[in-house]
Amino acid sequence: MNKYPAIFTALFSLGVAMSPASAQENPFGIAIHGGAGTISKAKLTEEQEQAYRDKLEEAVNAGHKILAKGGDSLDAVKAAINILEDSPLFNAGMGAVYTFDGTHELDASIMDGNTMNAGAVAGVKHIKNPIDLALMVMNKSDHVMLSGVGAEEFALTQGMPLVPANTFDTDSRYRQLLDAKAKINAAESAAKDFHASATSLDLDYKFGTVGAVALDKNGNLAAGTSTGGMTAKRFGRIGDSPVIGAGTYAENGVCAVSATGHGEYFIRYHVAADICARMKYQQKNVIQASDEVINQRLVEAGGSGGIIAIDAQGNVATPFNTEGMYRASRVNKDEPLIMIWRDK
Ligand code: ASP
Repeated sequence: MNKYPAIFTALFSLGVAMSPASAQENPFGIAIHGGAGTISKAKLTEEQEQAYRDKLEEAVNAGHKILAKGGDSLDAVKAAINILEDSPLFNAGMGAVYTFDGTHELDASIMDGNTMNAGAVAGVKHIKNPIDLALMVMNKSDHVMLSGVGAEEFALTQGMPLVPANTFDTDSRYRQLLDAKAKINAAESAAKDFHASATSLDLDYKFGTVGAVALDKNGNLAAGTSTGGMTAKRFGRIGDSPVIGAGTYAENGVCAVSATGHGEYFIRYHVAADICARMKYQQKNVIQASDEVINQRLVEAGGSGGIIAIDAQGNVATPFNTEGMYRASRVNKDEPLIMIWRDK
């Protein structure tokens, strides 16, 4: 006989992990993502797939270890995101994509559901781990969001070193930029319309952001997101990832959300906060609320992407409306769950 009640089996098949806490211990858990998009099974070699799965597992385990020891959800979020930022596999930190002009502009944000404090940085070019600077903005400044040179100047005042802009150069992202530019140029000369041509790019070129959400044993929820943005974006463009309520949101007693996808839609539809609002005001559960926003509202609007969310009981939802989303979760004493596509 199936050892799980039917509802859990059904939710697993939706890419949802639900793990009720044992009676003795407060629930805790973490979910992470490494971006959503056209992740073609045919294009990913076995070795590449394994490399993604290994890195996701390392990151989710690092966050889970902190939580299992009674640590803070913010620390778990930071630890998991740092591992993904340091890996060239993901579009954040070391694997950041290029702007149209061949530079890197990084965005990140973090939110503490306990205090409703938040910190964000946008358009930074010399910060190795933008999530660390977002955390500093939250903890050490009077502001929520700092951008560009001002954010980097603030980093220096806090003793965070700047790194050369070419730290983030990688051959694979550069090839993606050249490819994207060739497509934009071809479409532009056909359509005479930069906007239409840039938005017609394959999703391949757009996504890959990283994020984490966590619930600690004290019931504190936290969320964070870090990204290089979208390949061939205009310089100065800021996406949803550093926008509190769009790419990142956390509120104790409700949920924590981190998003990945076509940022312009996530900003306009206020995706992360909308999911929490549906839970708070319409008494929807985390699975219903996030599914409505990602698979109904965004789909109707034409916005691609996905989110990870965890609620105050440790239930995790990971809906996406793209072919795949790199993701992992680990709740209570469970083993980690690592997934890329809908079914595995
Ligand atoms: N949401 C990010 C942005 O629009 C991109 C991504 O998720 O990969 O900047």
